[in-house]
Amino acid sequence: MKHLAIKKYYTSFSIDSVEIENNVSSEQIESLDKELDELFKKYNMTLLEHDTRFIPIEKMSLSYCEKCNHLMINRDKNPTKFDGDEFYSDLGFIILNGGTDNGMDLCEECLPISHRWGHFS
Ligand SMILES: [Zn+2]
Repeated sequence: MKHLAIKKYYTSFSIDSVEIENNVSSEQIESLDKELDELFKKYNMTLLEHDTRFIPIEKMSLSYCEKCNHLMINRDKNPTKFDGDEFYSDLGFIILNGGTDNGMDLCEECLPISHRWGHFS
């Protein structure tokens, strides 16, 4: 039985609003996409799709977990996360829920289970 394997890669970089408005990153992203396409062809893979989303860091309370360094949204500060917007639905395992515990921003995996957003500790 033949299968089609679809593999996802996620990467990030910092950029400010002025740079986004001035398309500062577009040339660099186009260059990266071109190189990736060539690399995928080398491994008999096809680059099917790619997109870039800009998430305002402070507005969304986006940060890295202070314990494991996983990307997270502090749900204590942003209770609605992406407000159910389907545009972000595939980022659930890239950007975890999180909260503040004893002054530390921790993801759902590092928060104590007694915390509202703690799941596993
Ligand atoms: Zn963590």
